[in-house]
Amino acid sequence: MADHGLTSSFIKLDEEWGAHNYHPLPVVISEAEGAWVTDVDGNRYLDFLSGYSALNFGHRHPALVEAARDQLDRLTLTSRAFHNDQFGAFCRELAELTQTEMVLTMNTGAEAVESAIKVSRKWAYEVKGVAFDSAEIIVAAGNFHGRTTTIVSFSDDPAAHDNYGPFTPGFVTVPYGDLQAISDAITPNTAAILMEPIQGEAGVIVPPAGFFAGVRQLCDDNNVLLVADEIQSGLARTGKLFALDHDDVRADLYTLGKALGGGIIPVSAVVGRADVLGVLKPGQHGSTFGGYPVACAVGRAVVELLATGEFQTRSQELGRYLHGRLDELVGKGVASVRGRGLWAGVDIDPRARTGREVSMALRDRGVLCKETHERTLRFAPPLVITKEEIDQAVDALAESLNA
Ligand SMILES: *Cc1c(COP(=O)(O)O)cnc(C)c1O
Repeated sequence: MADHGLTSSFIKLDEEWGAHNYHPLPVVISEAEGAWVTDVDGNRYLDFLSGYSALNFGHRHPALVEAARDQLDRLTLTSRAFHNDQFGAFCRELAELTQTEMVLTMNTGAEAVESAIKVSRKWAYEVKGVAFDSAEIIVAAGNFHGRTTTIVSFSDDPAAHDNYGPFTPGFVTVPYGDLQAISDAITPNTAAILMEPIQGEAGVIVPPAGFFAGVRQLCDDNNVLLVADEIQSGLARTGKLFALDHDDVRADLYTLGKALGGGIIPVSAVVGRADVLGVLKPGQHGSTFGGYPVACAVGRAVVELLATGEFQTRSQELGRYLHGRLDELVGKGVASVRGRGLWAGVDIDPRARTGREVSMALRDRGVLCKETHERTLRFAPPLVITKEEIDQAVDALAESLNA
């Protein structure tokens, strides 16, 4: 059994001084490399959460650490009051990778979503001709787009939403995956449809086949923007650059974050059509750190890794293997498995153990993951994971379900 001698004293410190807005697993990580982390007592674990996909390239990928280090030695921050020699190149390289026309840099995912909401509204008033202050954005039930006051205004998760009002109006919620409901919700005031191509926090929910092609058609027919939140699903997680690529659908705007910062620093962006992002004029939106040189240097190294296609291929091939192995557990403590690529939502049989109990049993067997909701585990290993490590984790899961 693993030693946890130092662990409890670190946890005590966290609980005494840190705000209690998380309920972490009792493991205190002090070092990491690739798919592996080490705790303060020297125990090693496979990371099957990857910082909610922020660590798609694994911990401390050498090319990313080098890019950050080199930039730290040259220039860290200018603010956008001046140009810097990394910003334009990052925007161009990210636009080329994503086959989009323009890039708006921010820091966190929530800021990217906020920015996409602001841009969509401004576009609705200035280009589409929606009456002042009446733009509507259609969102999905079960969504997760971040934690700001406006974003939690349209969250239907009571924990994320309750007691943070008064809330921002202008959002219309429809069931996820229900094309008819979207069609019924569209009005002349609809500016955008904002959705995750696969709902991550909700438990890796994959919509019905053809759903997003239908959404695209509705957007085209009604002059409505399709805004795809690819903050968790994008950048190779599902086996393609964007999860939406599986549906052969293009969004008007994509929000990106998490893996865009290579697991090193927060980097986010809205990428998309120049005539939409082009509604922003100097002074109308911004961020002190958005597009700062360190972010751009790391982001450029991330783009370079993604441009090889290696991580997309790994996710596709190893994802098929992971899902094959997980499917073997259905009926043996697992109720069902969803997902795409190296991304899986595993529903624990309600007669078996809770997600938390299984997460703890996995920790004891050297695998870290986290339940989402009561009975769903989310598996999202770094895309550098090997087949043998997948076997190790799935074997540990099989044991944990029955422990
Ligand atoms: C994580 C996430 C966000 C918010 O990103 P932060 O960096 O935590 O603000 C937004 N949308 C989706 C789909 C996410 O998974």
